[in-house]
Amino acid sequence: KMPPIKGNISIENLVFEYEPGRPALKGINLEVQAGQSIALVGHTGSGKSTIINLISRFYDPVEGRILIDGHPIREVTIQSLRSQIGIVLQDTFIFSGTIRDNIRFGRLDATDEEVELAAKAVNADDFIKDLVNGYDTEVQERGNVLSMGQRQLISFARALLANPRILILDEATASIDTETELKIQEALKILLAGRTSFIIAHRLSTIRNADNIVVLDHGRIMEMGSHEQL
Ligand code: ATP
Ligand code: MG
Repeated sequence: KMPPIKGNISIENLVFEYEPGRPALKGINLEVQAGQSIALVGHTGSGKSTIINLISRFYDPVEGRILIDGHPIREVTIQSLRSQIGIVLQDTFIFSGTIRDNIRFGRLDATDEEVELAAKAVNADDFIKDLVNGYDTEVQERGNVLSMGQRQLISFARALLANPRILILDEATASIDTETELKIQEALKILLAGRTSFIIAHRLSTIRNADNIVVLDHGRIMEMGSHEQL
């Protein structure tokens, strides 16, 4: 089991291939201090998703290792690892149920008040209250009650409520209106505050706000630094 963590991450000489002889990562080294945000950028196929797949242990590396607060993640149960990592993917997972259930997904013990506080913190409360039944509005997995931007805000509220030390976020690329875009930017700042985060960043504003930008190319780190440095 993994003890409660601060969120320091060391990635050591990470090598990975999905298919023999076709390496997707060719020796990645990265030190991340607790609370830092890392933006992963690079062309399609450069290895961004693969890095987050390995941190989340959807796969294990061929060589090298990942340590969280000095503990190799291979030595803890996947369940205890995932309990400390929040994952927000591009295709936001909305299931059939109420908005409230959807936000509560990772924290089933959360009270209605906690759910609403999380929604307020990420600017989702306004649009939720405007829905026919507010927080009790039923949504469908593939339904279109919610816009892409709104789905994203729900997933932010869900992640904030779960309060993981480490957050992994594959930023949505879907085009959204300027107003929602601004809400998402603000919400992202609140969500990232005080957490170690890895963001596959598509928006310039997100890249600019990251503590460290990691530029990947063909499975290697090409460049690394703050927005001013690069
Ligand atoms: P994108 O911006 O398109 O999401 P990415 O930077 O996330 O790209 P990865 O998905 O990490 O790139 O892919 C890295 C390499 O691994 C690519 O060559 C890709 O073809 C390969 N790859 C990714 N997923 C798989 C898979 N499930 N099976 C086989 N090869 C894969
Ligand atoms: Mg990807």
